[in-house]
Amino acid sequence: MKSFDVIVVGAGPAGATAARHCSMLNLKTLLLEKERLPRYKACAGGVTKATYREIGFELPERIIERECRGVRFRVKEFEKDIRDNETVIYMVKRDCFDEFLVEMACNEGAEVKDGEECTSVQTGPDGVHVNTERGSYSANIVIGADGYYSRVLKSLRNRSDDVRFCVLCEVPVQRAWIDDYLGDLALIHFGFVDGGYAWLFPKKDSISAGIGASFIKSKELPERLKAFLRANNLSTEVRIKGWFVPFTKFAFPAYADRIMLAGDAAGFVDSLTGEGISGAVLSGKLAALTARDCHDSGDFSEAALSEYHKRCQKSFGNDLMYASRAADYLLKYTDLILGTIARNNEALYKYLKTLKGELDYKSYAEWFKRKMPALLLKRVFSS
Ligand SMILES: Cc1cc2nc3c(=O)[nH]c(=O)nc-3n(C[C@H](O)[C@H](O)[C@H](O)COP(=O)(O)OP(=O)(O)OC[C@H]3O[C@@H](n4cnc5c(N)ncnc54)[C@H](O)[C@@H]3O)c2cc1C
Repeated sequence: MKSFDVIVVGAGPAGATAARHCSMLNLKTLLLEKERLPRYKACAGGVTKATYREIGFELPERIIERECRGVRFRVKEFEKDIRDNETVIYMVKRDCFDEFLVEMACNEGAEVKDGEECTSVQTGPDGVHVNTERGSYSANIVIGADGYYSRVLKSLRNRSDDVRFCVLCEVPVQRAWIDDYLGDLALIHFGFVDGGYAWLFPKKDSISAGIGASFIKSKELPERLKAFLRANNLSTEVRIKGWFVPFTKFAFPAYADRIMLAGDAAGFVDSLTGEGISGAVLSGKLAALTARDCHDSGDFSEAALSEYHKRCQKSFGNDLMYASRAADYLLKYTDLILGTIARNNEALYKYLKTLKGELDYKSYAEWFKRKMPALLLKRVFSS
């Protein structure tokens, strides 16, 4: 049986980042992916400036479909464009983006096996065994970065996060039409559905359109998406796909003896925006760092790996918890809160700062709570 220091299961942003950093930290690393790469991933492909910075290397031009400098913010019928003087969201297609991250992990020395699904994980005192359809591998640690339906998570417990269902489609559109309609803006429409939002993310020659919502029956979402496409003069002759987005509340550990969970497997997604590439990249890095520490100390126990959970909480846990609390209010009182934000330039520019990683949610919320009475009065008297 071939043995490694670390086996990473799943080659999305979490797994590719974990494998790259493990290799950079001189750990003998295997990255297992069940699909052949490049593979499709249901995702709008928005990479915020803050996340781009965390990736840690330049993405080549061919990977970046469009650079958005701002957002068209719609709340019910109200619409406002807000632009920064720099890119705030990089638009990518996940098949190319993820394949490139894997290429970077390979360049650092990670061994990659795609088209090989992990079927089970067994931990014991002498190591962890990862079984696939083709054979078995052993390691000191396994990093479960295998997404929403994580097999590694299932070897520990059932998923216990809050979950939102999203539908999306990729609409092919002439580049000139996109330039004219959206240009360098991502469109986010709150209040189009109850308890969620709809989006249009412009790529080079297509638009990613989708809806994510908590309060609406998932069966109704495809029809709502078609209505959204019609409202934006886009074709409804599209293939609609659906996928789940998990949101942890950090109530359950993302680790056990010899195991760490990263990205969607651990539910590290922002419940306000549905942004999960950030949590995937950050947790992938922290899992690698913790794996290195465990190898240095020779201790792969649950107690040693609890350091990983602490690191995640410290790095992005507060933001995820804030997002979760804020989402409960914002999606319930959409017009009152988001309608007020949309009518105020300062509030919108501060929102762009959160996308750039220059302002955390806590500071934004505190600022907004202080300003809210004045902003509401202004809104009432100007209407
Ligand atoms: C509709 C939709 C739109 C979204 N839009 C955005 C967005 O614009 N921006 C953003 O930041 N986030 C977005 N997200 C969230 C984002 O897609 C995820 O949070 C992100 O992909 C998580 O990365 P990951 O590496 O943890 O998991 P994934 O990207 O899901 O990767 C997991 C990998 O593991 C592989 N795998 C699964 N099981 C096994 C197994 N048993 N053995 C081996 N391999 C396995 C899978 O094939 C996959 O390649 C969106 C999500 C949805 C559903």
